[in-house]
Amino acid sequence: MTIEPRLPPWWWDEAGSDEPAPALAGDVAADLCVVGGGYTGLWTALALKEREPSARVVLLEAATCGAGPSGRNGGFLHGYWASLAALVPLLGRGPAVELARAGERVIPAVRALPDDVWLREGGMLIVSAAPAQDAAVDDAVAAAASVGVPEQAMPLDGDQLATRIRSPAFRRGVFFPDGATVQPARLVRALRRAALQAGVDVREHSAATRIRDGDVATAGGRVRAPEIVVAINAAATGWRPVARHVTNFGSYVVLTEPVPELLEEIGWTGGEAVLDGRMFLHYFRTTADGRVLMGSGSGPIGFRGKVDERFTGDVATAARAERGLRRLLPGLADARIERAWGGPIDVSADHLPFFGTVPGRGRVHYGLGYSGHGVGPSWLGGQILASLALGLDDEWTALPLATRRVPSLPPEPIKRLGGGVVRSAIMACERADEEGRRAALPARLGAALPRLLGMQIGTR
Ligand SMILES: Cc1cc2nc3c(=O)[nH]c(=O)nc-3n(C[C@H](O)[C@H](O)[C@H](O)COP(=O)(O)OP(=O)(O)OC[C@H]3O[C@@H](n4cnc5c(N)ncnc54)[C@H](O)[C@@H]3O)c2cc1C
Repeated sequence: MTIEPRLPPWWWDEAGSDEPAPALAGDVAADLCVVGGGYTGLWTALALKEREPSARVVLLEAATCGAGPSGRNGGFLHGYWASLAALVPLLGRGPAVELARAGERVIPAVRALPDDVWLREGGMLIVSAAPAQDAAVDDAVAAAASVGVPEQAMPLDGDQLATRIRSPAFRRGVFFPDGATVQPARLVRALRRAALQAGVDVREHSAATRIRDGDVATAGGRVRAPEIVVAINAAATGWRPVARHVTNFGSYVVLTEPVPELLEEIGWTGGEAVLDGRMFLHYFRTTADGRVLMGSGSGPIGFRGKVDERFTGDVATAARAERGLRRLLPGLADARIERAWGGPIDVSADHLPFFGTVPGRGRVHYGLGYSGHGVGPSWLGGQILASLALGLDDEWTALPLATRRVPSLPPEPIKRLGGGVVRSAIMACERADEEGRRAALPARLGAALPRLLGMQIGTR
């Protein structure tokens, strides 16, 4: 029987909590008001203080910093080399490589934090666990070779893969050196401490209830600031300026008890973060105390941007994560699941985050759409948003994350209904493929729809 998903995630228990910051009370003036205390908001506040130490920065967080996905994710920390196969056709060769090069700065930025965030620089693997997943491996290898960086995506045949992690389910893989894992809640706590240390005025339990040009209101007060950054991630998917480009999907993880001896047996001791080649992928990693986290990006789709229990209480998706664990890593068949939890993923129409300034509304900037890959990219997001707030035209605002035209998704309710049909069809096909059978025709037709319409679906 699968364990029911619930909050808080185990990461919070392990990281412990700091003294909460006071809620906003009364009127405050600032140079910048950041709304949202996840990685994006915290990196933005830090980047701004680094560049303008005397700037007055207020950060408003609805609950406590890290209450959202930043405190509950899988902790895969990487840039964009593993995404090249999708980036080159989307952005063109030059901009794709430029973005991947910028992403190389993510891990060093985390390494430079003074606190221990369980940074483990073991690289990342994509493994194929079914014939239809071979392409994910082969395309990643080919894309890196085609732009002259074969060292960023090294092919591994079955035997080579088995030297890093052994499973009868794995056919082959690709290794990306630019990959690491962190303890997500430790990372958010480290950023919060660094922000406080830098003089950022952090206010928790202070949800923004209205954002206007130069003015952010909460239940207890207001911040008057010429520059405003909205970094509320999934909570922004119903917000008019961005709603057309983004929707929410659920992602869930299960975490085992410590099983260091089983990890030894399957040879998975190098700390690699691992993804399979599914569209609704499995992601799995080890922890400093020998646990295994297995995630499934196959959770429910949101509706009209609401962040509700679909993203925290879906037993079926937690069960899929556990099934993935048992199928992909049969050597861990006896590992007991200790905790399961979930959260929303802000999926953009082209699966890349986007950053900009709301037209005609003064100086309100936004960034979201990480599509299940925000732990590393939120650092880039922080640099971009700080530059936008400072009115700069620089290397950050020139990145495709801030300059490309983001495609639109269909309006609601088509977005939810169409997305639901396609999601079920793809999941049926991926399951059939893993079981060595051919999916039924309606499922195959449904799964082909996004490609025919030139759209992407799935969580990454
Ligand atoms: C289960 C799961 C696993 C994941 N695994 C990975 C992974 O391994 N690697 C990876 O790269 N990415 C992963 N992600 C995605 C990653 O967690 C996110 O992309 C990233 O945390 C986004 O950070 P953020 O600061 O933009 O958003 P958030 O962490 O959501 O922060 C936004 C904050 O805004 C606050 N807020 C909302 N509304 C308001 C308001 N009105 N006023 C004030 N504050 C408000 C929220 O409380 C929240 O704290 C995963 C996500 C989930 C759910």
